[in-house]
Amino acid sequence: MKTITLIPGDGIGPEISEAMKRCVEAAGVQIKWDEQQAGAMAYEKTGELLPRKTLDSIKKNKVAIKGPVTTPIGSGFRSVNVLLRKELDLYQNIRPARSFEGIPNSVQGVNLVIFRENTDDVYVGVEFEKGKKETLEIIKEIQKRNPAGEVIRDDSGISIKSISAFKSERIVKAAFEYALKYKRKKVTCGHKANILKFSDGLFLERAQKIAPSYPSVGFEDRIIDNLCMQLVQRWWEYDILVLPNLYGDIVSDLCAGLIGGLGVAPGANIGDAYAVFEAVHGSAPKYAGKNKVNPTALILSAVMMLRHIGEEKAAAKLENAVAAVIKEGKNVTYDLKPKRDDPSAVGTREMADAIIAKMKGG
Ligand code: NAD
Repeated sequence: MKTITLIPGDGIGPEISEAMKRCVEAAGVQIKWDEQQAGAMAYEKTGELLPRKTLDSIKKNKVAIKGPVTTPIGSGFRSVNVLLRKELDLYQNIRPARSFEGIPNSVQGVNLVIFRENTDDVYVGVEFEKGKKETLEIIKEIQKRNPAGEVIRDDSGISIKSISAFKSERIVKAAFEYALKYKRKKVTCGHKANILKFSDGLFLERAQKIAPSYPSVGFEDRIIDNLCMQLVQRWWEYDILVLPNLYGDIVSDLCAGLIGGLGVAPGANIGDAYAVFEAVHGSAPKYAGKNKVNPTALILSAVMMLRHIGEEKAAAKLENAVAAVIKEGKNVTYDLKPKRDDPSAVGTREMADAIIAKMKGG
């Protein structure tokens, strides 16, 4: 029996985690859940957003699935997700965007996988506040070194965007390896190398260097703004997208919008040693404890987790059951109904019941 760390999280996290757990078990996989805390609730109980015990559990079990967590508002709190990515070097953020028949306000035929670099870019968190002595000194130094460059005004704030050759190479390789494993046709690298020559330019250069090692997978690059427009107009021309951190964050939400919103957008954070699966959405505190929200995104994250641990048959069974329930459109939550106030919408628990019934042949 495989032991997996389960972090229920905050807000709607515990409800969707419970739904996910029941669905995974009904898919026929025996899992021992090692339940651990992280986020605002963990902070109230232990004084830590990411307790050592939780981190140790993931390190021991290697695989975790987590509900969304709330980052308390106020200075000094770092996001649990950013901490986890850093601490466990989860450099791949994989976000598939697949259409399901029956979702209102979605386009059909979308089958994209976004590989977002998860540890670099503006997320390194190096910032200099407007007006601070240090910031003014940096501005002065930059102007001294670039006398012909555009003037950076003294009233500027500065955030560092760093792109490393090593980190670019490993995310691009991961995207190509995924393409080989799942028989995908093409990897598209998104960037703004025409303007950001030394950061995005480096990301693109490393992608171009690696692509020829995978001759059976196509490769192309697109400037990020053009890519966004094309994804909205001609999504069928794309397959796997590999993107620096910030563009990956934005473009994956754009793709979630294409397929019907956050309620159906799963994700995985993967490194060489550890993997943490989670929905793209947050803890939606206003719906906490109301048995209202859609459990699909976390259930589909569990499908990714099952594939990761080699349980392909159970993964396919669960995924097909989710697709069938959504297609029927009867036992689905409010966000999957044509009108959000549709009184026939069911709750989180009941949607999970319907998915379980489908797996049992119902
Ligand atoms: P959110 O994703 O929690 O909610 C935004 C809106 O999206 C909700 O009001 C709801 O209308 C809809 N929504 C989200 N999940 C849904 C679901 N499963 N089913 C149906 N509708 C759903 O974003 P937010 O309000 O900006 O953030 C709330 C908290 O979540 C913040 O503390 C934020 O830091 C945190 N957050 C955590 C994660 C994570 O842990 N991975 C990710 C994003 C945000």
